[in-house]
Amino acid sequence: MFENLSERLSGVFDRLTKQGALSEEDVKTALREVRVALLEADVSLPVARDFVKAVQEKATGQAVTKSITPGQQVVKIVHDALIDVLKGEGEPGTLKVDNPPASVLMVGLQGSGKTTTTAKLAKRLKEKDGKRVLMASLDVNRPAAMEQLAILGAQIGVDTLPIIAGQDPVAIAKRAKTQAGLGGYDVYMLDTAGRLSIDEELMQQVEAVRDVASPRETLLVVDGLTGQDAVHTAQNFDERIGISGVVLTRMDGDGRGGAALSMRAVTGKPIKFVGLGEKMDALETFEPDRVAGRILG
Ligand code: GDP
Repeated sequence: MFENLSERLSGVFDRLTKQGALSEEDVKTALREVRVALLEADVSLPVARDFVKAVQEKATGQAVTKSITPGQQVVKIVHDALIDVLKGEGEPGTLKVDNPPASVLMVGLQGSGKTTTTAKLAKRLKEKDGKRVLMASLDVNRPAAMEQLAILGAQIGVDTLPIIAGQDPVAIAKRAKTQAGLGGYDVYMLDTAGRLSIDEELMQQVEAVRDVASPRETLLVVDGLTGQDAVHTAQNFDERIGISGVVLTRMDGDGRGGAALSMRAVTGKPIKFVGLGEKMDALETFEPDRVAGRILG
């Protein structure tokens, strides 16, 4: 579908005069192509612009290596710079869940894959880290969502907090915390309600739950196929709630993963995991180099 960046750049450099170093003009011309490639990969415009500017400063004046073409050289510089932005602090794929019972707060918009990801992470914590996990759904407006978590819990062998009709999210969070302590659980995961878009009521609700649970991790679940929207969502949740990391879902789809770069650049928060399908095992540690390759096409 897309012409990849290497092909594009070799075309560009074929038209330029060969020199001993990458001139400002060469780099500028090449980076116009890079910018288009980033936008096609769904990177948001301001992030693409800043990124290209930073790369321009880095690339100008670099000696052209004999063994590779100038096009390949710019691709390498861009690739390395992408990895620099995508890499967060800490080990990707790890969660701070020591000192039981540790809470993990799952936040995000409706349909982002929050409930599925909650269960996937619970399964991973149980199987990889040997943790005893309790999951609770706080989505009081959608009984089907609460049922969904219970069904997934049964499927993966992870306990869910019994559903009591009529309780509000804060009451459920308190009950989960108490139950986690009494029941000897290492981790309790709170699957908060989502909305189709961010609204004040949702934010107040999540804030109240956060204050009760004092989460060790607050993970924002975002659909990796949404470009610019993902950035707004991440910015909003981070400003109001304070997130500790991001899980990007639907990375098994056609998307090029530009949302990863945008969110990392805008929030500075690490992307910890990626969702790669509907199945309970379809969750992987975020790999910056793989996503960088995908963004470049
Ligand atoms: P929530 O409303 O945010 O809780 O979203 P759900 O967890 O109910 O997920 C919505 C739909 O997306 C479900 O059909 C999931 O199976 C699907 N889904 C979740 N994560 C992924 C993923 O990584 N890849 C794909 N292809 N589908 C996913």
